Amino acid sequence: MAKKSDPRETPMMRQYIATKAEHPDAMLFMRMGDFFEVFLDDAVEAAKLLGITLTSRNKGKEDEVPMAGVPHRSLQGYLPKLLEHGIKVAIMDQLEDPSEAKGLVKRGLTRIITPGTLLDEDALDDAQANYLVAITGFDAPIGIAALDCSTGEFLTEQADSSQQLSLALARLQASEIIIPETLAQNEFAHERIAELSANPDMTISPMSSYAWRAADARQVLCERYQISELDGFGIGPQDDHLCSAAAAALRYANEHAFDQLKHLRHIRRIYPGQHLIMDAVCQRNLDLLRNSRDNGKQGTLLHSIDRTRTAPGARLLAAWIARPLAEAQSISDRHDAVAALLKDNDARENLRDALEAVYDLERLLARVATGRCHARDLVQLAQTLEASKACQDLMQGQQWPALINADLSLLNPAPELTIRIQETLVEDPPLVISDGGMIRDGIDAGLDEVRAIKRDANTWLAAYQARESEACQIPKMKVGYNKVFGYYIEIGKAHTDKVPEHFIRKQTLVNAERYITPELKEYEEKALSAEDTIRSKELAIFGELRDLAESYIGSIQRCADALARLDVFACFADNAHRLHWCRPIVDESHALRIGGGRHPVVERVIGRDQFVANDCLLQAGAQDDAHYLAIITGPNMAGKSTYIRQVALAVILAQSGSFIPADEAHIGLVDRLFTRVGAGDELSRNMSTFMVEMAETAAILNNATHNSLVILDEVGRGTSTYDGVSLAWAITEHIHDSLHCRCLFATHYHELTSLAKDMAGVQNLTVAVAEENNDVVFLHKIIEGAATKSYGIHVAQLAGVPVPVIERARFILEHLEESKEKPQELQELKHTSPPPAMKPDNGQQLEIFATMPSPILDRLRQLPLDDYSPRQALDQLYKLQQDALKES
Ligand code: ADP
Repeated sequence: MAKKSDPRETPMMRQYIATKAEHPDAMLFMRMGDFFEVFLDDAVEAAKLLGITLTSRNKGKEDEVPMAGVPHRSLQGYLPKLLEHGIKVAIMDQLEDPSEAKGLVKRGLTRIITPGTLLDEDALDDAQANYLVAITGFDAPIGIAALDCSTGEFLTEQADSSQQLSLALARLQASEIIIPETLAQNEFAHERIAELSANPDMTISPMSSYAWRAADARQVLCERYQISELDGFGIGPQDDHLCSAAAAALRYANEHAFDQLKHLRHIRRIYPGQHLIMDAVCQRNLDLLRNSRDNGKQGTLLHSIDRTRTAPGARLLAAWIARPLAEAQSISDRHDAVAALLKDNDARENLRDALEAVYDLERLLARVATGRCHARDLVQLAQTLEASKACQDLMQGQQWPALINADLSLLNPAPELTIRIQETLVEDPPLVISDGGMIRDGIDAGLDEVRAIKRDANTWLAAYQARESEACQIPKMKVGYNKVFGYYIEIGKAHTDKVPEHFIRKQTLVNAERYITPELKEYEEKALSAEDTIRSKELAIFGELRDLAESYIGSIQRCADALARLDVFACFADNAHRLHWCRPIVDESHALRIGGGRHPVVERVIGRDQFVANDCLLQAGAQDDAHYLAIITGPNMAGKSTYIRQVALAVILAQSGSFIPADEAHIGLVDRLFTRVGAGDELSRNMSTFMVEMAETAAILNNATHNSLVILDEVGRGTSTYDGVSLAWAITEHIHDSLHCRCLFATHYHELTSLAKDMAGVQNLTVAVAEENNDVVFLHKIIEGAATKSYGIHVAQLAGVPVPVIERARFILEHLEESKEKPQELQELKHTSPPPAMKPDNGQQLEIFATMPSPILDRLRQLPLDDYSPRQALDQLYKLQQDALKES
């Protein structure tokens, strides 16, 4: 009886299992023919996640091995789904041609793909950088490095507190974070990172401690850049933690990409103070790059302003919005560039048209540098360099501001390369380089010669056929080719008796026989070897061309940066032109004066003529009449949130270098922007809404400076009215008295409006409402003053609450308003005394309950307690309680 063979014990499965054992945390895909196959537990998971069929080897048997596969050309398409689920994908490819393999095909790992080490896969978002971020720990000083393998961008910075770390992570929006192994063993590390990065699903990868050792790290970096000191990158002798982070990121990227990242750029150090700081909460609240609803792009600031024409331009725009500047001169330089392009309509339009022809140069270069480029990539590279030169030409002969001039000078980095590529490669080369046919005729004499042999093949075969046909007197003779026998002669059954002896029979068909001859075999060898020769010659010429391209990487990268910047300037100018945006004055003052400001996203949705523009007139500082804290009250849906957000967005746009949606604006540099807005998706962070609200508020109160801008929307709503109003009151006092910073506070607590009486810096704003008969219209116009009514019933009606309920609510409201006692005059209260809401009979909202008629309370008020003995008093108390219980 045959011995039962264990499917796990086949040589191929042993190969698989051994490799998997080395990388247990990755899902291993092994190339088998035209498929990438996954086995065992990975197969079960892959089938579930990718919706592919789960089959098995030895199906139905006890020892069956689960198996699933995807066509090798479609693997790229499946990657995003796996990476989204935090799965690393190991690729085991065939290292030799299976047809030439003796026995088991040699296979080996060629890449391990993780979210942070993607190169040019479909999984990459064209409009966003893809950072692999390394952090040295949670204790200051913390070294942070961010490496984008797809473009070669390499940043480093230091955080002096975990809060600064959190800010950096918010800005970078890492795809994957690497931490020292020792740190990973701390059970809270993952939780901490999820919290700091505001992403519970962040892929966190530990790296062994040796990769972080500072001395080695310095050496790794110096060797990589062929330099002896890192000072040129802003990394001094003290900055060991920066070296550790950078070297760890580099090592990790190299280990996973298996290639040298030749397109790696110089390390750029980011310093705090260079940029307007915004944390993740702020970015999310303002829907800057991703919306707070579903984390998508719809409804975001970026989406509404992105008119860039190139993918690197779109990525740069996102980076500028996430990291606005905080230096007046650099901002003004950007505004100069935008103004110049706004002024010259023709130049701007021509530039934008020329940019259309530009491919994603950064990611093209990454493919060149990692040896993964095809002939088509080089053709696109040449086309892009040509388009870039065209941009330079069309802008020439004019005076441009300094930034544009500097960029224009970088746009023609490799004219020789462009020509070489165009001369060498055909215009539309095949997708795969081994298919051949990518090199033009006339480039290499040897290549032309073998090509002639191949081209002449048909003529030779036709002549051979005619010759043999005549010699044998067989009229119907056909020369053909198949993969099994190579060239053959096919002769119909009717003529097989005339076949000469030197014909060797190879195959019998129903009506014909197939033969080979020594002469045909000899020819076949020549023809086939010509094909091999052509392929290897083409590959050699292509390789030279690729090496040449690689030697230009540095200057082409600078050209790519310049194109991206010009694209963003042109995008800003285009927005300014189409949407009538203005150039803001940005300086070192503490002003926040915006005339005719609009919300860029809401305006786009409802239309320019429908949007009501509003002013903002804040000024922090010593002037007596200057208001710097605006309290905005008004009904729901009147436009309070829109207003306070539009002011914040104007600051972000202005400091990013863009013009802004307003008629005029004067903005004193904001060092940090804080927002505390509505309830977000706190559930995912497992914190109560109120707790989150207070944590965000604490962050503001502890960190805002005189130069900050604070945007508050509804602070204190997550708790009881008394608590809420008291907190809101105290917070406002603190911002006014201690922080002295510009602040917009939209609130339902009308009580807060009385603060303006005692605090010089507070201004009351409200939203105008027109009331006619029973009709209410929200005018969306921000005016000075405090709201008098809430119009909640009106909003409920708009929202479709049934008419009987609305009518009943109106009736109750009237009743309540009639029976309401006049509220105690709030003006009497100094802001230094406890806020009025601490006393339950203050504040309109509390009043409603306090004024409900109650006979028991009336009796209580009238009890002549002084006349009672203790026993009588107790009796009365029991009686009152019994009656109260009956009433309730
Ligand atoms: P609130 O914060 O007062 O509840 P919102 O700011 O959310 O109100 O605004 C509610 C709606 O009113 C918005 O979705 C928008 O359609 C409209 N709106 C707000 N501000 C304006 C404006 N300035 N001009 C026109 N429509 C506006």
